Amino acid sequence: MDNKGIQKGSSQKILVVEDNQDNRELVVKVLKINGYKVIEAVDGEEAIEKTKTEKPDLILMDLFLPKIDGYEVTRRLKRDRDLRRIPIIALTAHAMKGDMEKALAAGCDYYIPKPIDVRELPKQIKHFLKPNP
Ligand code: MN
Repeated sequence: MDNKGIQKGSSQKILVVEDNQDNRELVVKVLKINGYKVIEAVDGEEAIEKTKTEKPDLILMDLFLPKIDGYEVTRRLKRDRDLRRIPIIALTAHAMKGDMEKALAAGCDYYIPKPIDVRELPKQIKHFLKPNP
């Protein structure tokens, strides 16, 4: 097909929830290079709003956020019938066993410790995205 878009990531939409600007810009850049559409949220409230309005295919969720933390955002989204199927991957620097369990208990589907590995990230998220029709 003569699709102008970059083949790798397709038009799938990823919501990046991260309050730290440097971290957010890095993740956004990696995702865009890999052909994904990216939406950004800088706090928990915005994360919930944008999930509802944009219906992303996947959410990358920092757990420590202003207003509503990532655990609570995840719990709320996973209680919502329309939104619970969206995979949520937690991102946090506190890569300790307890945090990982807490993230999964809140409803996160997977957990990626920070700092992110820019080469691994696309592979790590790929498993949680449905292949393009
Ligand atoms: Mn944070």
